[in-house]
Amino acid sequence: MDYEPLNREALRQQAALFHVKLDETALERFAVYARLLQEWNEKINLTAITATEEILVKHFLDSLTVLPLLELPEGAKLIDVGTGAGFPGLALLIARPDLKVTLLDSTKKKLNVLEDILAHLGLSATLLHARAEDAGRDPALREQFDAATARAVANLRELAEYCLPFVRVGGVFAAMKSANAEAELAEAKRALHLLAGKVGRVETFPLADAGTRTVILIQKNAPLSAKYPRPSAKIAKNPLG
Ligand code: SAM
Repeated sequence: MDYEPLNREALRQQAALFHVKLDETALERFAVYARLLQEWNEKINLTAITATEEILVKHFLDSLTVLPLLELPEGAKLIDVGTGAGFPGLALLIARPDLKVTLLDSTKKKLNVLEDILAHLGLSATLLHARAEDAGRDPALREQFDAATARAVANLRELAEYCLPFVRVGGVFAAMKSANAEAELAEAKRALHLLAGKVGRVETFPLADAGTRTVILIQKNAPLSAKYPRPSAKIAKNPLG
């Protein structure tokens, strides 16, 4: 199928409105990423969003909105939980190649696609095939990251138990939500407390013409109890809160 090439200038300008500066190398990488997503999507079901213009806004721009909020120093360690086709994690790496990014997903074939895309982009990231709630008990990963991100993975109560175990004390977890963020946050209050998370900034904004998005920032303010994360069946059956 023929797809429109990515409008790099539009991406550059729209990202700048969110205080994200993209250089020529990053824009070229986003153009290649869009094409590879479209090609891969013809072989395996990666994303329902396939038109180039929609990829620009709903995947690339949406992913980038979290970057200025995270305020990550050079070389910071970030884990993207349930990254799927690389959102937001791979988009953040394109914008900030200095970051040490881990892309985690429980679906192996998505990680295989990401491996191919990373090779084409000339970027490196750690690809981790695991369920978040298992990986969060691994001492090599537990409380090792400056930041964790997640978009469209689970309800905040469950998501917090997936993501906060990875965050070091003083680090931050960013949950990216498109709807019902306030209600999810209210429901997750107790879960966040049990998981040593403290709600920080909550930013709601329009994403170009694609509706409203909310980024919820949660600071990790103490080491996590050894009780968490619990096994997956328990999290699903009995979410904290
Ligand atoms: N974050 C991407 C995005 O916004 O486009 C992908 C969203 S997709 C709807 C959810 C992804 O989370 C899937 O790739 C799925 O395999 C992964 N996932 C769901 N639960 C998970 C878990 N407990 N551990 C690891 N990955 C998980």
